[in-house]
Amino acid sequence: MKTQGQVTMDTVDRQTRSQIMASVGQKDTGAELLLRSALHKIGLRYSLHDRSLPGSPDLVFPRFCAVVFVHGCYWHSHGCYRSTVPKSRREFWTEKFRANRSRDERNSLALLRRGWRVLTVWECALRGKTAAPSAAVAKKVKSWLESSIAVAEIAACADPSANSPAHASDLTGAG
Ligand SMILES: [Zn+2]
Repeated sequence: MKTQGQVTMDTVDRQTRSQIMASVGQKDTGAELLLRSALHKIGLRYSLHDRSLPGSPDLVFPRFCAVVFVHGCYWHSHGCYRSTVPKSRREFWTEKFRANRSRDERNSLALLRRGWRVLTVWECALRGKTAAPSAAVAKKVKSWLESSIAVAEIAACADPSANSPAHASDLTGAG
């Protein structure tokens, strides 16, 4: 959600520019809003976009020492069907996505070092052809909050029509 602004528009050609604008239009805000309202419905309260924390996590749950990022699959190069690389200026985009990805990793590590637990909810779990009902995703978030798992991800189940490897990493604790 914070990554789009970092593309310097005057360094890219017109076609790339219009691709960026198109992506910005469908950024992950929709997924984040879906999740926020579903979490609210089940009684969870959080603060938003805390800039004092590495990566300004989208949702912060101080009581659980936990933060949640809702990542757009495209900008954060999830590897699912939603994270394609544009055909033109491939190198530019590959480098851009790689940088986003390593920034995400750095932020997670910095948060963990400060004692926070980190959950990433991928957009594909909430929007598009692989989406689950937001209430179901919210329930998974809740059970993670109440667990002692330090790092986890919620992604869509593998799309049977996709040829990419499975990303059904539902609540796979990595620590
Ligand atoms: Zn995805």
